Amino acid sequence: MDAVASLYFSLIVPVCLWLLALVCAGVWWGMGRPAYLPWYACASFFGGIGLAAQTVIPAADYAPMAPFLSPSYTLAIIGLTWALALRLKIVMSWRWTLVVGLLIELLIVYFSWGRESLSARLVVMALGLSALLLQLLPGLLRLRWRALSFVDRGLVCGYGVYTLFVIVRPVLLFSDPESFGQPFALGVSLIWLITLYGSIIMGIGFTGFFLAAAGLDSVQQLRNERDQDPLTGLLNRRALLAPWPELATSGAVIALCDLDHFKRINDTWGHPTGDAVLQTLAALLTANVRPSDRVGRYGGEEFVLVLHGVTLTAAISRLEFVRTQMEHTTWPTLPPGTSVTLSLGAVELRPQETLEEAIARADVQLYAAKQGGRNRLCWQE
Ligand code: GH3
Ligand code: MG
Ligand code: MG
Repeated sequence: MDAVASLYFSLIVPVCLWLLALVCAGVWWGMGRPAYLPWYACASFFGGIGLAAQTVIPAADYAPMAPFLSPSYTLAIIGLTWALALRLKIVMSWRWTLVVGLLIELLIVYFSWGRESLSARLVVMALGLSALLLQLLPGLLRLRWRALSFVDRGLVCGYGVYTLFVIVRPVLLFSDPESFGQPFALGVSLIWLITLYGSIIMGIGFTGFFLAAAGLDSVQQLRNERDQDPLTGLLNRRALLAPWPELATSGAVIALCDLDHFKRINDTWGHPTGDAVLQTLAALLTANVRPSDRVGRYGGEEFVLVLHGVTLTAAISRLEFVRTQMEHTTWPTLPPGTSVTLSLGAVELRPQETLEEAIARADVQLYAAKQGGRNRLCWQE
């Protein structure tokens, strides 16, 4: 293949990067708009611009254009690091990004229009882009590898490989100064080949992992919506009653809670006030169970707690605490001194018994609590 043909053939790489950017933008638009996708689309888009420019502009003519073209690489790396930070929930500093970005640009201007030097520009780009990439490192080191999903692990590995590539590339270039001459000539410059094909492989890899992340996020969101009660954020009845085989060995206490005279609250102060009471109770219940217990909204103003691996005695003191907390809660939206109370029924799960059967027995206890005057806990030994 002659040099001109190989030049145009090389353009396949930036074109593919632009297509990948387009796919990311399209998926972002159609799929819950995860914040990291537009950042990654920018990375792919600007990376493509930098590679396309460097492919078509002969090295000899590149120097005066460098200050206009080097920002495309800087923006590509900023897009990549911010996409990774958003996905992996790593806090980043805007100031660092801005200062390093501007410093790169100033030095590139100096080494293009002032004291022209290709090797100085290469060093500036390598150091600057590494400084942008390494901004992620402290946050990455704090992540727990085992807690990461397969997709996030892929992104972290991709980041490691790419950062290494950015740091090592100038070393390769200095070891092969000939490659400065014709960066576009396929087959002549091994380093340009590595850069182009490294970029497309990394681009496809990152795109795949970011799109998979967006897909997993959507599935997780659907699962949450399927299992959650929208008003309180607690489990709904379906999720509450989902099989929990470990209970057969760990044992559990099932409690059914019902707000007292809740209809009056709605009738007197309105439905939104009633909703706020339900939300406060949900928060109170959640705060008083372990993350591994289940709390769910069983019906309108009825809630179920499944406390696993506890004795009835231990559960009773915890439930009594919840009941008194509710009784002494102050309500900014209700007249001062208004008390909203809770009645509870609790039973110990029997061997072979289903959660529904235990809840039916707890309901009998709840009924006894209501009959006994409300604002109390009844239980079956
Ligand atoms: P008791 O002490 O016997 O439990 O009396 P109660 O008034 O709490 O019980 P009742 O079953 O008569 O009324 C329950 C009320 O709960 C009726 C219904 O309007 C209200 N409710 C159910 N779901 C919601 C909700 O999502 N929001 C609000 N604000 N009210 C709800
Ligand atoms: Mg009720
Ligand atoms: Mg009630």
